[in-house]
Amino acid sequence: MKKFFYLFFALVFLASCGPQKVDVLILNGTVYNGVDEESKSVNIAIKGDQILEIGEFDNSKFEATKVIDAKGQIVSPGFIDPHTHADRELVLQEASHNKPFLFQGITTVVTGNDGESVYPISRFKELCLANGIGTNVIPLTGHGTLRDESGIKTQTNPDEAALNLMKEKLKQEMEEGSFGLSTGLFYSPGSFSTTDEVISLAKVLKLYNGIYDSHIRDESSYTVGLLKSVAEVIEIGEEAKVPVHISHIKCLGADVWRYSDSIIAMVEKAQLEGVQITANQYPYRASATGLKSALIPKWAQSGGMDSLRYRVEKSTTRKKVLEGITKNIKRRGGGKSLVMIKAYDKNLLFKDLTTISDSLKLSEAETALKLVLGGFIRIASFNMTDYDVENFMSQDWVVTGSDGNTGHPRKYGSFPKKYREYVQEKKLMSLGKFIQNSTAKTAEIFNLKNRGVLKPNYKADIIIFDPNTFKDRATFDNPFVLASGLNYAIINGKVSVDNGKFTDQLNGEFLTRD
Ligand SMILES: [Zn+2]
Repeated sequence: MKKFFYLFFALVFLASCGPQKVDVLILNGTVYNGVDEESKSVNIAIKGDQILEIGEFDNSKFEATKVIDAKGQIVSPGFIDPHTHADRELVLQEASHNKPFLFQGITTVVTGNDGESVYPISRFKELCLANGIGTNVIPLTGHGTLRDESGIKTQTNPDEAALNLMKEKLKQEMEEGSFGLSTGLFYSPGSFSTTDEVISLAKVLKLYNGIYDSHIRDESSYTVGLLKSVAEVIEIGEEAKVPVHISHIKCLGADVWRYSDSIIAMVEKAQLEGVQITANQYPYRASATGLKSALIPKWAQSGGMDSLRYRVEKSTTRKKVLEGITKNIKRRGGGKSLVMIKAYDKNLLFKDLTTISDSLKLSEAETALKLVLGGFIRIASFNMTDYDVENFMSQDWVVTGSDGNTGHPRKYGSFPKKYREYVQEKKLMSLGKFIQNSTAKTAEIFNLKNRGVLKPNYKADIIIFDPNTFKDRATFDNPFVLASGLNYAIINGKVSVDNGKFTDQLNGEFLTRD
């Protein structure tokens, strides 16, 4: 009888020791956890939407629905992109897969940048969830959007009631889960606001642990200048006592080349004084913006297109507008460095301003004015130096971002380009540093508590790429080409890219601030 008793217990013991069921096992990879600079040879078990275990465990203790052999490949947390214009596409059924970002290894995108967001957040969420989304989404609330919604638009000094209405709307957005406020102080209508207005809004964020993110007032020498614009961000952080973040940090144009040293010194001094200030950057020497924003003098833009048309019909103001355009073309490095990447007339595409003006037999300023009056054109503007790009990139507080929008290859290539060019070719940074500044650090900036790191109980957002073939393929002539080398993307524990192919599953979640 005793014998049977022991046998029974032995069987129960063996049964309880049988393999535990999990959803995905990732074996034999070179694993960067997002926090440590060095890699480890460890395995990862995923159950549901979370990482169950990561370590040197014996894989026979798990029985997985899917086993991925990652031998010779890099395993990393999914990248987090702090600045995108993906919101425009996430709400469209045919584009909500977000593949341009996903194939760069991005599993979470921040949206609502540069002061423009889908309003209100609750509607944005509804639109995203109606179609399903290919990556996770973090929503910010746009300052320009709030100005429009509060009826302030391009007024410089809104009255008390309008200002309060705007603050109420921001509060509402934060209650609905917004992660913070974005501004586009270079663009209309944000450009019409004072620093005090922005500070009073940023103070609302304090109540919700929100972040202030800014396309700063002037990245060049248009108005207050680059250094004063960085000082403005620091002042907002000091006064409102909230974390501040400079989007797509750069020195735009010959007038401000090599200012990166001064900016780094300013930021580090502010950090020592207790301001939480960080930045993001895309790894290209060309920026992208509207031809109008780049070249038409600010004073001539006020009141919109009709006012501009009226001004250029009068010969005296036309002369002044053309003088301003000439200065701005020079500021951006000349007509050859301005390339049309999105235009109402496809014959203009990928041509530079000098070439177009030669064929029209007009001056470059006259040509630019004619093009602006014809309709919307976006340009790539080659206006940065390698010195400044690499100087910013080497700072611990500068994370990777794409600023992905239509026409610039950065929408399809930023993260793999940084890996290919600055990790592999130029060896400016280690692979571990690149991953830290594309995952865990960005999660920390946006106060994401359970993403961006490979750790038990964290959400399973994981990518696996081939270190030899992971690269950008989008160029300025051909900007719509997906990156190569991403073999797997797992989002919220589910496989979105399997052996290099999109699974057609929309596994992203709409994230709200907790
Ligand atoms: Zn921007």
